[in-house]
Amino acid sequence: MKILFVASECVPFVKTGGLADVIGAVPKALALLGVDVHVLLPAYPALRTHAARGEIVWSTEDLFGGSAVVRAVEAEGLSLLLLEAPALYDRGGTIYLDSDGEDWPDNDLRFAALARVASEGALDGFGDWRPDIVHGHDWQAGLVPAFLRQSGRAHPKTVLTIHNIAFQGLFEPEQVAELGLDPGLFHPGGAEFYGKLGFLKAGLAFADRITTVSPTYARELLEPEFGMGLEGLMRLRRDDMIGILNGIDTEIWNPEADPDLPSGFNMRRLKAKTQSRAAVLERFALSPMDAAPLFCVISRLTRQKGLDLLLEALPALIERGARLAVLGSGDRDLEAGFKTAAESNPGQIGVVIGYDEPLAHLMQGGSDAILIPSRFEPCGLTQLYGLRYGTLPVVARTGGLADTVIDANDAALVTGSATGVQFAPVTTAALVQAIHRTCDLFAQPKTWATMQRSAMRHPVGWETSAAAYLSLYQELAG
Ligand code: ADP
Repeated sequence: MKILFVASECVPFVKTGGLADVIGAVPKALALLGVDVHVLLPAYPALRTHAARGEIVWSTEDLFGGSAVVRAVEAEGLSLLLLEAPALYDRGGTIYLDSDGEDWPDNDLRFAALARVASEGALDGFGDWRPDIVHGHDWQAGLVPAFLRQSGRAHPKTVLTIHNIAFQGLFEPEQVAELGLDPGLFHPGGAEFYGKLGFLKAGLAFADRITTVSPTYARELLEPEFGMGLEGLMRLRRDDMIGILNGIDTEIWNPEADPDLPSGFNMRRLKAKTQSRAAVLERFALSPMDAAPLFCVISRLTRQKGLDLLLEALPALIERGARLAVLGSGDRDLEAGFKTAAESNPGQIGVVIGYDEPLAHLMQGGSDAILIPSRFEPCGLTQLYGLRYGTLPVVARTGGLADTVIDANDAALVTGSATGVQFAPVTTAALVQAIHRTCDLFAQPKTWATMQRSAMRHPVGWETSAAAYLSLYQELAG
């Protein structure tokens, strides 16, 4: 079985969020089941040296005004197809934003190009490699099913995965012609979203199957509160949609052999976690304490993540004598809010604004609990890392958070199955209660240690979900 993944980011090469972790991990899990996944990615500067080693397997003189080639290369255990189109991808800034933090004005061209090349490769092959199924991810790959459809040729079946429906890739309708999209596909049942051209919308309308990254989010997407205007289409397509839970790369996230921790630990040697804890306290200039938990946040600082609620809940956390270490970047007001909170509560709240992968590992290793008060969360990965590192997740009961954390209610405590704390609704009051509950549990060391061990036993790898993707592909390929 040969599958073409089409995506805009991939660990360990380029990452802005959980999408990258997933694209870097699923192909390896599928390879163990005998599936050959090739990942088509833009050759951003971060991939230049890998691309230089690659063999040209596809080329054109004209991809939206410039020449382009696809180079095939093996790197970090992945089979990559790197789309080299310097006019589109070879630039500074980040992969989506210019150096002023604005969307690149030609993001429509950049990702329509990715989709067009994916569809041409799907039809005629990259060299002699031709996929049985094309599996696109998020709006950046949304036009793949549309381009395949307008080709009028027999083509591989398509899957589109929604990693976050909040990002839809909306552009002006005039771009339909500019991007070479068949105007016949631009209508409310197709690529049109309230007068705009919607890349994600097009993908959801025309893909053979839709997946999203947790069963609860698959149900939530049918509701106006979560569907972001696409709930009608989601309902129409509900029989073609399935929620397959994300996993994590348990080699990269392994508390026993994590190079970013001062000392490895496992569920039989939990004590060694205290060395990481001390390192986190020191790194965030927090004063040591053993009677209350060290909470952490590792997140984009946005409204989605509910961190404005956490700012409001901080007095409760401080009153309990707990500590908070925050790593993240994003909305200016949230960055400022956490910086101010840290200045006003020295020794109790520490903040690092930025993106720091090794520090994220250290915090998972050394914190007692990780706070994730998201308003919506398609799957969420940081709670899965938390489970694996015995850092108990304190989460809003939504999306993948609801599907992966077992709340410490009385029944779960009696059976020893609790792995964290869930709260609902997503309000400051409920979050405050959850913080209190967590502090109460932490004050019972035996209960806490049982929860840590249950968390660390919870299956967070890709085995089950990779098998689910495989059966989806098999069904589609007939
Ligand atoms: P989303 O994709 O919505 O941002 P996820 O929980 O699915 O949320 O994935 C976020 C990923 O990004 C995780 O791997 C997390 O560890 C990482 N991450 C988020 N913010 C930071 C940061 N400031 N520094 C390092 N890693 C981060």
